[in-house]
Amino acid sequence: MRPLNRSDEPLNCNGGGLFSDLENSLGRKVRSSDWNVKVTAGIKRVAKQGMLSDQHGLCCYCEESLNIDNSHVEHLVPRNHAPELTLDWGNLAACCQNNSRCGHKRGSFHPVVNPYSDDCISWFECDFRGRLSVSENIPDEHRKLASDSRQMLGLDSCPDLIRRRERVILYVLRTWGEFFDDAAQDEGLFEMMLYEMFLEHGLPFRTSILSALHLPYHLLQHEIRF
Ligand SMILES: [Zn+2]
Repeated sequence: MRPLNRSDEPLNCNGGGLFSDLENSLGRKVRSSDWNVKVTAGIKRVAKQGMLSDQHGLCCYCEESLNIDNSHVEHLVPRNHAPELTLDWGNLAACCQNNSRCGHKRGSFHPVVNPYSDDCISWFECDFRGRLSVSENIPDEHRKLASDSRQMLGLDSCPDLIRRRERVILYVLRTWGEFFDDAAQDEGLFEMMLYEMFLEHGLPFRTSILSALHLPYHLLQHEIRF
């Protein structure tokens, strides 16, 4: 799972924070029901634009490609578990709409892996067939959470998702495979290859690709977030 980087909350037309201003204007504690009553479709759309930009247009859990119309705003800690985080910018991410995986499959199950945590990048492994498993090297304290997340988010039970991952991995192998050996010896070349694959071609499933092809993850982290 790709660790996310969250930029500042988008501004509203008065120059205030999109959600924080709304929260202040309520003049009371935030409720879960405020999400469907106070937060208009227009506000959610502006929020999703900011999130999709931060996430390079990929789902916060499965890393499939998203756009403004086929995504929803996901509460990482569900509203019924933490109503006070309903309008918390740091608790929100753009997520795919598919009912058989990710936010809609998980529903209000909690907890699942938080994609804002850097270490989630090494929790899962992917093979050439697009199958995702919990990494053997995961620290013991994270193993149950990773296993629950894989199951509850449907990361390896959705046939469409597995097929798509397999196709993208094979595409990368056919298109860039001849450069892998050289890129392993040359960080600059490796960075250029990732730039072409991920930013120019906009490929989804970035951590799955790197895992399946035994390529290092570190350039997905820190300052350079592919
Ligand atoms: Zn997803």
